[in-house]
Amino acid sequence: MAIHERYRLFIDGESVEASTDESITTTDPATGESLAGVPAGTATDIDRAVSAARDAADSWRSKAPAERARIVRRIADEIRDHADELARLESRDQGKPLTQAHHDVDGAARFFEYYAGAADKIEGKSIPLEDEQFTFTVREPYGVSGQIVPWNFPLNLTARGLAPALVAGNTAVLKPAPTTPLSALHLAELCRDAGVPDGVVNVVTGGTEPGAALSSHEGVDVLTFTGSVPTGRAVMESAAEHITPVTLELGGKNPAVVLPDADLDDAVFWIAVGIFTNAGQVCSAADRAIVHESVYDEFVDRIVDRAESHSLGHGPEDPGMGPLNNAEQYETVLDYIDIGVSEGATLETGGEPGDDDGYFVRPTVFSDVDPEMRIAQEEIFGPVLTVIPFSDRDEAIEIANDVEFGLTGGVFSRDINRALGVARDIEAGSIYVNEWFGGSEETPFGGMKKSGIGREKGLEALDSYLQTKALSINLSE
Ligand code: NAD
Repeated sequence: MAIHERYRLFIDGESVEASTDESITTTDPATGESLAGVPAGTATDIDRAVSAARDAADSWRSKAPAERARIVRRIADEIRDHADELARLESRDQGKPLTQAHHDVDGAARFFEYYAGAADKIEGKSIPLEDEQFTFTVREPYGVSGQIVPWNFPLNLTARGLAPALVAGNTAVLKPAPTTPLSALHLAELCRDAGVPDGVVNVVTGGTEPGAALSSHEGVDVLTFTGSVPTGRAVMESAAEHITPVTLELGGKNPAVVLPDADLDDAVFWIAVGIFTNAGQVCSAADRAIVHESVYDEFVDRIVDRAESHSLGHGPEDPGMGPLNNAEQYETVLDYIDIGVSEGATLETGGEPGDDDGYFVRPTVFSDVDPEMRIAQEEIFGPVLTVIPFSDRDEAIEIANDVEFGLTGGVFSRDINRALGVARDIEAGSIYVNEWFGGSEETPFGGMKKSGIGREKGLEALDSYLQTKALSINLSE
């Protein structure tokens, strides 16, 4: 699975030319080297992909669930058979260290395995009523699922949405992010090799135009969007035109509360994992360490040491941290660092670009952060930790919840009762206790507040791809 010089769209089971000659060059963010050209897909290409997905929908939904399960399970096998190549490709296209790319690929395979196991267990209910009424429900696919994916976990997030959509009996049109389009195109080929019928999985590359065309398309029956809040809002607005249901997985500004009795080694370790993994380009990152004043100075000293221990480098060489994925994000993160300094926070470490070419930013820690500062309120999406002191529990909860997001949160304490009390009071879709990035493919994931609508992962995700039909029968003679 070498990286091709030039890619085409994947529609109706084959690689096809786009409606335009315009292309986007995807680059290695560590070196700036061009990796490949992919078509800058248009609304016309989306029309074509949606129409292929519609044509394939009836036959896919009418397959026996056990047969869909077998096919979806084979996608996982194909991914595992090509795991090394996929991880290397993802590491180059996205920038992440190879070990992390392997983890993403394994997770992608797990999504197909997990949902394959659920395919023949999607059941309705019977509803007890008076004797002469018999009512039961069946769960039906929507039809065509449109899926718009960001650039931080390209393959993994594609699999996260595609696997439950397919298992539920939907066909799909995928629109990967313009800076990380390669793994989705290879995945579509692996789906074909696994026996997925033509038209069931389609990929249109490009930027805003195909994204907007997909989210406003009359032929799309359900939408899954993962990305930023402003784009999520735009997707929801366009979906409103045809009353298309949306699942939105948006950003976060996640609090990690460190209580005075926390094991500081553990807290420092996990919060560093939480903010420096994938160079901080993680929606569920540990963005804000909210630390009790009695351990604040020690926490800052230790997390600075840990931040400084990261080597920066080219993803495939498996450094401690890779570059940011693209020029725009690089500028955004450096701007936020300037904003933090001008707001009066103390820059403890990092803050500058790396020595090499490429979009490197050193792991950065700000202390003396006021919860009202922009660096404490807005999602930076980079390796920038803000450390905020608190003096009592209620203040910690107030700071934790005083943002527009509610994706994840965490609490560190040796006292499980105190930890669970804080976990209960943090407004977020996932809470980690004495760890970060807890849970797995089996665990429902999604946001409260502006972090989103609906849940991905776990059995709950199937709800986003199924609609309930109730059948009522009059048994009177
Ligand atoms: P983005 O919103 O800029 O783009 C996401 C996708 O939307 C891309 O494929 C893009 O091409 C497409 N797009 C752009 N304009 C569009 C439009 N008008 N209509 C339809 N589609 C359009 O996000 P990003 O910068 O790629 O990703 C970073 C964001 O994603 C962060 O905010 C992060 O928190 C969020 N994210 C959330 C989760 C989650 O599960 N909650 C996971 C990963 C990333």
